[in-house]
Amino acid sequence: MSLTAPATHAIDRATCEALDAADPLAGFRERFDLPEGVVYLDGNSLGALPRATAGHVQRVIAEEWGTGLIRSWNDAGWFTKPQALGDRIAPLIGAAAGEVVLGDSTSASLFQVAVAAARLRPERRVIVSERGNFPTDLYVLEAVQELAGGAAPLERRLIDDDGPGLDEVLGDDVAVVVLTHVNYRTGRMYDLADVTRRVHEAGAIMVWDLCHSVGAVPVDLNAAGADFAFGCTYKYLNGGPGSPSFIWVAERHQSAARPAITGWHGHADPFSFDVGYAPAPGVTRFRVGTPQLLSVAALEASLDLWEDVDLAQLREKSLRLTELFISLVDARLAAWGVEVVTPRQSARRGSQVSIRTDRADGYAVVQALIERGVIGDYRAPDLMRFGFTPLYVTHADVWDAVAVLEDVLATEVWREPRFARRGAVT
Ligand SMILES: *Cc1c(COP(=O)(O)O)cnc(C)c1O
Repeated sequence: MSLTAPATHAIDRATCEALDAADPLAGFRERFDLPEGVVYLDGNSLGALPRATAGHVQRVIAEEWGTGLIRSWNDAGWFTKPQALGDRIAPLIGAAAGEVVLGDSTSASLFQVAVAAARLRPERRVIVSERGNFPTDLYVLEAVQELAGGAAPLERRLIDDDGPGLDEVLGDDVAVVVLTHVNYRTGRMYDLADVTRRVHEAGAIMVWDLCHSVGAVPVDLNAAGADFAFGCTYKYLNGGPGSPSFIWVAERHQSAARPAITGWHGHADPFSFDVGYAPAPGVTRFRVGTPQLLSVAALEASLDLWEDVDLAQLREKSLRLTELFISLVDARLAAWGVEVVTPRQSARRGSQVSIRTDRADGYAVVQALIERGVIGDYRAPDLMRFGFTPLYVTHADVWDAVAVLEDVLATEVWREPRFARRGAVT
């Protein structure tokens, strides 16, 4: 069985089933608790539930909290969990032990890291990001501009798909560049090493947002020589709703970096209860306060599963799934004006595919899909977004999703008024 998807004309559901039978990652699906009859293509927004999670969290609650009580800070290793789990995330992003620590929300960790990054280039007055970045990144950077700027706010320059490009905005006044490796809307992926090199040539600090990369594509921060990174754990890592973010700081910056929030869990000697702040050595200084230990427990259970994942196999399957989806969309949905927005060149694509059409309301189409058990999502103004998480999505799922999509478009069922109603979360 060839590992690449065959030409479209040769694809039928049986071909997809054969690809699943030959899939070296097929066994992982059993380790997730997925509802019957659901094709889940939204693991890029909230990862599925690993079967081991509930039992592990239950044990932490009953034994560590219920019985151990406050003793568990030492006996169950609660106090050092953020570093211990950071060390387990490290191999997924090309980091070394001691370079990664759990944070709070992703937004908070961006703030924590971007202020530290800007302070490493105090004489420079510009922060660069991207107009198409995830909005929280842009919102948080507005605060970073004010707080890291001293007397006057730092200037912001945004690159854009329609220009200006990175090389046009880089100069000797740029302190920090903050970019998201895989774009949340389009799934376009940057060449992490190449961008880092260009930013360094301009003398700036490179901060990567890995929200749509970790657990989706192999990442090698140290090979690229990047400076800082952060990301979330509830998307491809399946840490559960509200699971903590992570922060990576290159070893060479750790002793000079000053985080934005200097909390007691980042103190060199928290239980001395000194009146003054003294940073802990290494990445630990990026900790803030008491970690959300029940969410940390859920993440811990999912990281057990990640120990067994071969990232090269993961990427190979991810590309097979996204290529299969793209070729089926081309073959079957062009009649309804559906076009693929995500780059077709595999090196420029993460693990999701976004599509759009002028001839249907994308929001309503996605709602109609969800009612039929195919869960994707919608991102304004017109993107239908589908995440392909290789640990639990099958080739047959891809086939079924496109078949349902075709039916929703052909029957125009999406026009029914109930599909136009919007919840607080799209
Ligand atoms: C998902 C995502 C976030 C989420 O931020 P939270 O603080 O965890 O809500 C931030 N940035 C990017 C690029 C994302 O994809």
